[in-house]
Amino acid sequence: MRERPTFPARLDLSLGQARTQKTALTGVLPQGLGLDSGAVRMNMVGKLVNQGLTDPLVIAAMKNIERHRFVDSALVNQAYKDTSLPIGLGQTISKPSVVARMLELLRHGTAGKLGRVLEVGTGCGYQAAVLSLLANEVYSIERLRGLHDKARGNLRHLHLANLHLLFGDGMLGFASGAPYAGIIAAAGGEAVPHAWVDQLAEGGRLVAPMAAGAGRSGQQALVVIDKTLQGVRQTVFEAVHFVPLKSGIA
Ligand code: SAH
Repeated sequence: MRERPTFPARLDLSLGQARTQKTALTGVLPQGLGLDSGAVRMNMVGKLVNQGLTDPLVIAAMKNIERHRFVDSALVNQAYKDTSLPIGLGQTISKPSVVARMLELLRHGTAGKLGRVLEVGTGCGYQAAVLSLLANEVYSIERLRGLHDKARGNLRHLHLANLHLLFGDGMLGFASGAPYAGIIAAAGGEAVPHAWVDQLAEGGRLVAPMAAGAGRSGQQALVVIDKTLQGVRQTVFEAVHFVPLKSGIA
């Protein structure tokens, strides 16, 4: 029988802080599976904060969304490590520090939530869930039917009314939802598709991994594009490693 796994009774609590927190709480609260997952997740976010994550909304959203529910049962004990993990069909869920970094760049200090946001590459749906807590409306598009369906299943329990999952080629963006306050891509191509820049609102920001330099080397960097009344400004940030952005559906 293939059923969604529940959280395992034992997680690798590698940091003292989580262990202390768990010990402190065991006396007062019933020992549930959720309690273990919560402590380990707080620990993960604590590490991200130590590494420089400051945006309070991103911090709260990453504390809130249970990453272990988005990975396969065999990988659940790695869900709160800062590592990317396979999600099937040759794709990966990004590592938490990269998700946090990109979301922080996308929000760039916006007070309150962003307006409408487009995510290209739903994958398992984890980042889409986090995003749904940071924006009024999220459109997330995936080109692989298998992952689109998987994300739908993973997200069902969260009942996120402002998150819309779409099956299609995200290289074309999603014109019906435009203009977007933010566009974020979880797959990297040779260049930023024109459709994305066209569908960005004035004052909007796009964050995506893109080929750095000639592209042949397979090197990627995070690119931020700001669209203003005066035009489009592109800034290149640190090197990253994402799965390729592909055209068409499959
Ligand atoms: N944010 C995702 C990461 C998924 S990996 C998560 O949290 O799991 C990137 C995803 O982008 C893959 O699922 C891949 O199939 C998808 N992708 C690649 N090119 C795409 C395109 N043109 N349109 C939509 N999705 C695309």
